[in-house]
Amino acid sequence: MIAHYGFEDGSGVFYITIDTGKCARCEDRGCAGGCPEGLFALEPDDEDIPVAGIREQARNALKAACAACKPLERRPALLPCQKSCGLEAITHSW
Ligand code: SF4
Ligand code: SF4
Repeated sequence: MIAHYGFEDGSGVFYITIDTGKCARCEDRGCAGGCPEGLFALEPDDEDIPVAGIREQARNALKAACAACKPLERRPALLPCQKSCGLEAITHSW
């Protein structure tokens, strides 16, 4: 499943997308500790397999929560969350 978490407003579109099909075959689940803001949470899917999601209380504040990782200049090619995910399951809309 492709899961989208976030929001949009007059300033832009702020979604983190997770390919949870990849989570089902992930061995280390590095995202859980790879985000300095602790935004990722692992929860069981319909088949009771832990898959990644974004904590509910953070979903409407992603723009601010991710700001330190995403400077306007010299933005790293891979964000910390993306580096922590060896299966490339995480994408950001902004
Ligand atoms: S590290 Fe990537 S593939 Fe593994 S659980 Fe987290 S988001 Fe899913
Ligand atoms: S950009 Fe930074 S704060 Fe945002 S989800 Fe990725 S690691 Fe966490």
